[in-house]
Amino acid sequence: MEKPVRVRIAPSPTGPLHIGTARTALFNYLFAKKFGGHFILRIEDTDLERSDKKYEKDIFDGLAWLGIDADESPEKGGKYGPYRQSERIGTYKKYLGKLLADGAAFYCLHSEQELSAEKETLMAEKKPLAHWCEFRDVPLADAETKLGQSHVIRFKTPHNQKIVFKDIIRGELSFDSELIGDFSIAKDIDVPLYNFAVVIDDAEMKISHVIRGEEHISNTPKQLLLMVALGFEKPGYAHLPLILGTDRSKLSKRRGATSVIDYKNEGYLPEALFNFMALLGWNPGDEREILSKEELKNEFSLEKIQKSGAIFDITKLDWMNGEYIRKKSTEDLVALCLPYLEKIIAPELLHATSYKLQTIIALEQPRLKKLSEIGERVEYFFKQPEYDKELLRWKKMSDTDISASLEKSEKIITQFKSTITKTEIEKEFLKEIGDGDKGIILWPLRVALTGKKASPSPFEILEIMERDVALERIAIAKKKIVA
Ligand code: GLU
Repeated sequence: MEKPVRVRIAPSPTGPLHIGTARTALFNYLFAKKFGGHFILRIEDTDLERSDKKYEKDIFDGLAWLGIDADESPEKGGKYGPYRQSERIGTYKKYLGKLLADGAAFYCLHSEQELSAEKETLMAEKKPLAHWCEFRDVPLADAETKLGQSHVIRFKTPHNQKIVFKDIIRGELSFDSELIGDFSIAKDIDVPLYNFAVVIDDAEMKISHVIRGEEHISNTPKQLLLMVALGFEKPGYAHLPLILGTDRSKLSKRRGATSVIDYKNEGYLPEALFNFMALLGWNPGDEREILSKEELKNEFSLEKIQKSGAIFDITKLDWMNGEYIRKKSTEDLVALCLPYLEKIIAPELLHATSYKLQTIIALEQPRLKKLSEIGERVEYFFKQPEYDKELLRWKKMSDTDISASLEKSEKIITQFKSTITKTEIEKEFLKEIGDGDKGIILWPLRVALTGKKASPSPFEILEIMERDVALERIAIAKKKIVA
C-alpha cells in the first residue's frame, strides 16, 4: 500500500507570514488535498530569542484568511503533536543522546573565535567552508567533562561520500560530503538547531513529502545524512523555485515581499491571492489563469512545477483581484468595501440610504481592482469634491464657454423628473449636444460633479446623485469660473 500523503510547512515565527511561505503552504496544501492526505502546520520556534507569539498569530491568521487550512497544527492538535518545536525538546534530546552515544555526533569544544579564524583562513585559501572538527573522535565521556567551556554538538559527517537524492521538480541532485564537513546540529543537548529538529519532526510526524523553497536545497544532504544515521525512512523532495520580481531580482519588500496581512489590508481578496500564488511556479498546462480552489485541488501536480524562478507580477495580481471582485454579489461587495469607506466617510453620510450605497458600489464593481481604492473613487458621492478650477476646462474652452456649458447642463438637469435612468439622461443630453463635440458639455459637467479627471460617465453619476446635489455642484463650479 502507498504511504498516506502527509506534508507540512514549518515556518519560524520570527516575522510575519510572507508570500514565499504562503506559496509553500499553498503548494503543500494543494498536494495534500489532491491525494486525500494531511497538511500539517508546525511552528519552528526553537530560536526562542527571535520567535514571537505575535508572529505565530500572524501566520495562523494569514493562512486562515487565505483558506489554507491545516489538518494538524498547534491550534488544531493532532495525533503527532505537539506541533511547536519548543514543546518537543524532550524528543530532540532523546535522539541527540542516541547520536552522541553511538558516536555519530560529538561535542565540538572550539571557541567561536577559533571557528571564525578557521573560516577566514579557508576563505583566504579559497577552500570550501567545511569544518572538519578535531574533536570528532574524542570519546563522549572525555568531552562531557569539559562542557563548562563553549561547545556545540556536531554531526560526524563521513568523508568522501556522494549524497544523492531525486527531487521531484529538479531530478537527481548530488552532493559531496567533503564540501559539507561536520555540521552543527545543536547548541547543546536541549537546544537543537534547524537541520536536526526538522529531521526528527519529519520522521516522527510521518511526513511523506518535503515541499519547500529552493533555498533549502543545500540543507537536504545534511538532513539525509542524519536520516541515515538515525535509521529513518526518507521522504520525497520537491524544492520550489524562487519568487522573483518582474526584473528577475529577488523579491524585495517594496516589490511584493510584504506580508499576507498587508495584502488583505490593501484590499486583495483571499481567493484572488490563492489563485495568484498557485501560479507562482506552476500552471495548469494551458492558457487558463482563473482557477477556483476546487479546480486547483484537482489539477495541481508537483511534476508541473517549473525549475526557473517564478515571476511575481503585481499588475497581474491586480487584474486577477478585479476578476474576483466582479464575481462577488453587490451585497457581498458592499460588506467588503465598508471598512474602507468608513475610514474616510462619516457614518451618517455613508449609511443614509443603503440603496444608494449599493448602487454606488455596483457602479464601481466593473472597474475596481482593489477594495482599498473604493473610498477615493466614490467619495464625491458623499461630499463636495475639492478640485482646481482649471480641471473644468475641456481643450481650449474659454471661461465664458465653460460657464455657458455648465448653464446648459443646469437647464437640462432642472427639467429631469424625480427618478430617471442613465439611458434617459443620456438621451436628454445628446438631444442638446447634437453632433457637436460631446466634451464641451460633458467634461465640465463631469468635473463639477466629481472633481476628478477620470470617473464613470456623468449619465451614470446623475442616475444616482440627488438632483439638488448635482445642481449645487454645478453652481459651485460656475462660481469657481468667475472667481
Ligand atoms: N523554517 C523553515 C522555513 O520556513 C523550514 C524549512 C523546511 O521546510 O524544512 O523556511
